[in-house]
Amino acid sequence: MERKSFQLGDIVQMKKPHPCGTNEMEIIRMGMDIRIKCTGCQHSVLIPRAKFEKNLKKVIRSADNTVENN
Ligand SMILES: [Zn+2]
Repeated sequence: MERKSFQLGDIVQMKKPHPCGTNEMEIIRMGMDIRIKCTGCQHSVLIPRAKFEKNLKKVIRSADNTVENN
């Protein structure tokens, strides 16, 4: 099975869209729990890491790739 990798600052897509209709979340805190912020309405939620990994669909934009346009 494919292992999902993610890090602080990544923009991720979850399996279920946020109630506001946006399906892009930014990882703003990582630890035992992960805090993600909706890029549409700026609402943030704290969810257990296991649940986050289960609900993660894909990483849309990795924070690692931000310097590639230089
Ligand atoms: Zn939202």
